[in-house]
Amino acid sequence: MYRILIIILVCFHSFILSQKFEGESKSVGKVNNGKLVNGRKFPYNGENYQYFSPFSYYILNRAWTHSKIVDITLETYKECEKKIPHHHFLLMECSKKNGGKMKPHRTHQNGTSIDFGTPLLKDGKPYKIHNSLGLYHYLMTFDEKGNWTNNKRVTIDFESMAQHILILDKIARKNNMYVKKVIFKINLKDNLFNTKSGKKLKRKKIYFARKLPKIVDNLHDDHYHVDFGFHK
Ligand SMILES: [Zn+2]
Repeated sequence: MYRILIIILVCFHSFILSQKFEGESKSVGKVNNGKLVNGRKFPYNGENYQYFSPFSYYILNRAWTHSKIVDITLETYKECEKKIPHHHFLLMECSKKNGGKMKPHRTHQNGTSIDFGTPLLKDGKPYKIHNSLGLYHYLMTFDEKGNWTNNKRVTIDFESMAQHILILDKIARKNNMYVKKVIFKINLKDNLFNTKSGKKLKRKKIYFARKLPKIVDNLHDDHYHVDFGFHK
């Protein structure tokens, strides 16, 4: 029964996505008090990425952002195919079709926020099995070295994560936007900034949240939250 329901929803969404979205989106208000007008939905997957949860995508309908941010993110994945070819990336929650409140997130309201799954390694090799965790992915926890507490052989790939953010910012800037803010667990930031690309990230002064309430801090290890900004 569940399978049939998913098939119906997939067909319905394919139909919706096949309809052309005209024009550019509009992000109104702020990330914590705003809405999205004429947003665009990400395709569920591509060559080297996938959305993390069918439930979040089809039922909760949370894979929408500003049209420019969809383009920037997909172009980034294209470049990652060449620069970080071993990784299969994970796209997590974005915004609802018209933005607005989206619990338990405090932000994600105006179509400029995306949660990206942290790239992982198992025994030093790209690890993909986490992609099947669905919504439970948000509950993964990592120690201060970036090891998954359930299985220490699984670690965060800080270098690939830094590269991904660098490419994201580069392509955003080509489109008159930029990476405005990254939220990542405070005690893991040094591990990130100590990598080759992490040093570049620091030099570029991409803003990372410096202080976070404990509950927010603890959530941002399995994923990093990115807010995009518009250059005026
Ligand atoms: Zn977020």
